[in-house]
Amino acid sequence: MVANKFVLRFSSALVEQPIIYRLVRDYDLIVNILKADINPHKEGYVVLELSGDSENYNRGLEYLKGIGVDMSPLSGTIFWDKDRCLQCGACTSFCPAGALYMTTPDREVHFDDSKCIICESCLDVCMARAVEVRF
Ligand code: SF4
Ligand code: SF4
Repeated sequence: MVANKFVLRFSSALVEQPIIYRLVRDYDLIVNILKADINPHKEGYVVLELSGDSENYNRGLEYLKGIGVDMSPLSGTIFWDKDRCLQCGACTSFCPAGALYMTTPDREVHFDDSKCIICESCLDVCMARAVEVRF
């Protein structure tokens, strides 16, 4: 039995395909969806745990790669240091999950840990090093 967590990113062309259904039906995998945001007009993402026997698990991963799903293993958690944050807002336009966001009209940056998919896109953007991944 193998079990791992992943972030899957889908292009708009893949959003409407029954990918999760196929993982369950064709590869006999257990799929535990932790977070998801699927918008048929844009890229979607799913954070999930995949488990199953090793042969099916590997075949399932090959299937996902074969259809062009962008996969990255989920590791660590994102820590946002409010005191280091310069409130520049640069990260908010790169965060695909809306976990780093700016409120209006005060233009304050906030972090919602429950929305973060640990894609790490914000790490390179933040010159103040106010965001880091912790394992
Ligand atoms: S990029 Fe860094 S400094 Fe700028 S708002 Fe985001 S966390 Fe704060
Ligand atoms: S890692 Fe950063 S960019 Fe990615 S979802 Fe979390 S806060 Fe947003």
